[in-house]
Amino acid sequence: MNITIVGTGYVGLVSGTCLADLGHTVHCVDVNEEKVEMMKKGRVPIYEPQLEEVFLRNIRGERLFFTTNLSEAIKVSNVIFLALPTPPGEDGSADLSYVLDVAGQIGELITEYTIVVNKSTVPVGTSEKVKSIMKSKTSIPFDVVSNPEFLREGYAVEDFMNPERVIVGSSSQRAFEVMDRIYLPLTNIGVTLIQMDEKSSELTKYASNSFLATKITFMNEIANYCEKVGADVDKVRMGMGSDERIGNRFLFPGIGYGGSCFPKDVKALIKSGKEVGYNFKILESVEEINIKQKTILVPEIEKYLGNLNGAKIAIWGLAFKENTDDIREASSLEIIEKLLSKGANVIAYDSIAMENVKKVLGNKISYAKNMYECVEDAEALVVVTEWGEFKNPHFDILTKKMKNKAIFDGRNLYNLEELASHGFYYKSIGRKLIK
Ligand code: NAD
Repeated sequence: MNITIVGTGYVGLVSGTCLADLGHTVHCVDVNEEKVEMMKKGRVPIYEPQLEEVFLRNIRGERLFFTTNLSEAIKVSNVIFLALPTPPGEDGSADLSYVLDVAGQIGELITEYTIVVNKSTVPVGTSEKVKSIMKSKTSIPFDVVSNPEFLREGYAVEDFMNPERVIVGSSSQRAFEVMDRIYLPLTNIGVTLIQMDEKSSELTKYASNSFLATKITFMNEIANYCEKVGADVDKVRMGMGSDERIGNRFLFPGIGYGGSCFPKDVKALIKSGKEVGYNFKILESVEEINIKQKTILVPEIEKYLGNLNGAKIAIWGLAFKENTDDIREASSLEIIEKLLSKGANVIAYDSIAMENVKKVLGNKISYAKNMYECVEDAEALVVVTEWGEFKNPHFDILTKKMKNKAIFDGRNLYNLEELASHGFYYKSIGRKLIK
């Protein structure tokens, strides 16, 4: 089939590339000319494991094309996926302007039956809004489908190709049939495709992300409580996770969730609830706890050093999680801002996300070439992202290079006994303080 994808960010580019790899011919449209030029030259503009290989394979196979011209793409396909940003507006609600603007443009451009498939995360009722904007622009028949995306950054290609489910929300049998054909290569290998109405589909995405954010936050609260009563959250986590009803994923305590999805989706669901007179009390607490959790280590560093003014603090990891260059809502940025406001000198290292942070923080902090250069003369090391390279450091090198042997670990990467045997001051989350 011929498919158009509008928006080539983490979701659009991965979806477009993978749909091409499933045999479809895909035209990716983006307003960012620089990005489109890069992709036309065979360069992937984001860091995402496995993406480059699949991307190049499909460009060579002439199934994957890039353009800034929406009308050109629409001429050759009548299924149009939207993978556009839905950032939080000032009041926390999802900003639908990108989605609705493009829906209006599509309404003006179509010349035959078209299906608009929304992959962006949008509040309940957005399909209706898309329909009414398009109806005001065209009398040509069309359908709107909600097809929320559940891929995780860092595992996006794997997730798109092996999803736990595909959700398709529509009120049109014709659209359901087309969506079945698009996803046939996946359903043929056993992937479940669940059909439902548009509103339920739109809400499934928010409910899933909000539930996962709640699960993480619940565990962070248990971790904070463990510290007060002398329990070890890792043991509690393993004990809980072995119960199938709970499961062991998303139970890892740490310095809060970040990224471009959980924070904004929790906010947007709270706001959508308010609009119809419903208060999501759980989610309001989740949001509040998570904000605090992100910088929970800063007072601990202050307690250890006495005063942060002029202190050299090393940061390992800037991405909001491992395997991505995405720094949206990353805990690193909040920790760094807090440390800077207290007069600390911050030096950071991240093998992938450093360039993105440079665009935001510039020379407010220094950047190291590698993880060991980063800790040179540092008075404390803060581990922020769970990148593989930080999981087994040479503690003897840290001992030689650091001014103080002090690690503040936001991801519980290290073994308490090992750190004690190396003589470190070691503060992690929900576990015994080693000193
Ligand atoms: P992104 O910011 O990475 O990408 C959006 C892209 O859209 C950019 O390349 C931008 O240039 C382009 N764009 C903006 N306006 C445009 C227009 N008028 N025409 C064409 N292109 C335009 O965003 P993302 O992370 O891919 O997220 C997209 C949507 O998917 C959001 O609603 C998000 O909540 C949802 N989502 C994201 C993830 C994720 O892990 N990132 C996962 C599931 C769902």
